[in-house]
Amino acid sequence: MKAITVVEPNKVVLEEREKPKITAPDQVLVKIKAAGICGSDVHVAHGTNPYAKYPVVIGHEAAGEIEAVGEDVKDLEIGDGVVFEPITYCGKCYACRTGHHNVCKELKVLGCIVDGVFQDYFVCRRSQVYRFDKNKMSYIQAATCEPYTIGAQANWRGNVSKGDVVLVHGAGPIGLIVADVAKSRGATVIVSEPNESRLKMAKDFGADYMVNPMKEDLDQVIFEITNGEGVNVVFEAAGIPALLSHATEILSPAGRLVAMTFGKEPIPVNFKAINAKELTILGTRHQYQKFPETVENLPMRLDRVDKLITHVFTVEEYQKAFDTLADKNSGAGKVILTF
Ligand SMILES: [Zn+2]
Ligand SMILES: [Zn+2]
Repeated sequence: MKAITVVEPNKVVLEEREKPKITAPDQVLVKIKAAGICGSDVHVAHGTNPYAKYPVVIGHEAAGEIEAVGEDVKDLEIGDGVVFEPITYCGKCYACRTGHHNVCKELKVLGCIVDGVFQDYFVCRRSQVYRFDKNKMSYIQAATCEPYTIGAQANWRGNVSKGDVVLVHGAGPIGLIVADVAKSRGATVIVSEPNESRLKMAKDFGADYMVNPMKEDLDQVIFEITNGEGVNVVFEAAGIPALLSHATEILSPAGRLVAMTFGKEPIPVNFKAINAKELTILGTRHQYQKFPETVENLPMRLDRVDKLITHVFTVEEYQKAFDTLADKNSGAGKVILTF
């Protein structure tokens, strides 16, 4: 079977591997059908992901079909469609004991620390897969489940509630998903993005206001929309460190900053504003327990999912797929590989 392996930073190969077998009664064997390429896969490929171990099969956003189950697995059948939770955790450490399994001290991330899903077959524990209804969405569509769980986690972290005014920096796939989830939680959504074609997409993902910060004064727009109060939640999904610092200025009292990105260097924060307005700064990493709700409601979002997926390539075309994702003029949103 085929696997996309990063042998060492900047050396990606499509290699032939032996098909894995079930070795424990609680495992399942999944035929991978479709998998999305994430920015973090690119970081692992380029050696810029600080957690990565090499060599490693990349990929963590996949959907596939159950091909075999271990003897203890009674609730899945051969042919069922499943998506993967791409993390494993110890269940015992402080983070796990307090419901933050996604930051477990022994966290293992597929496609980064352990082999991921860019391969024809994958064996994992039953608890790591979630069944989806194949009549309601395709494997390609279901592959966007994982990034949607990231959007769900970020919104949960920010406690986005009905009536909140939310600002999302960046209209890449994750920014758009965050906006979509915020809208469905009843928020008014502002999306700020300098790339006009991406910004246009934000409208379909629930943006009530689209701002090009190169053309408009974002602070002024926020001031007007919120009657001078400021936004209640800021999501930084653009990867610009200065926007994290800037958030303290545009947040309302009791506002929340959800930092979906981080800079290479420490970023100065105005703690006077944090204190005066009782602001909350929240990290967000992967997700915990967001798969059941996401698998359930993704079929209601297929109009958006189909807009998010701009390119589909076969696994053999992986180089073209990576190039398309890297090309700023390709219009790439979510790029999916099929197996
Ligand atoms: Zn991802
Ligand atoms: Zn743990």
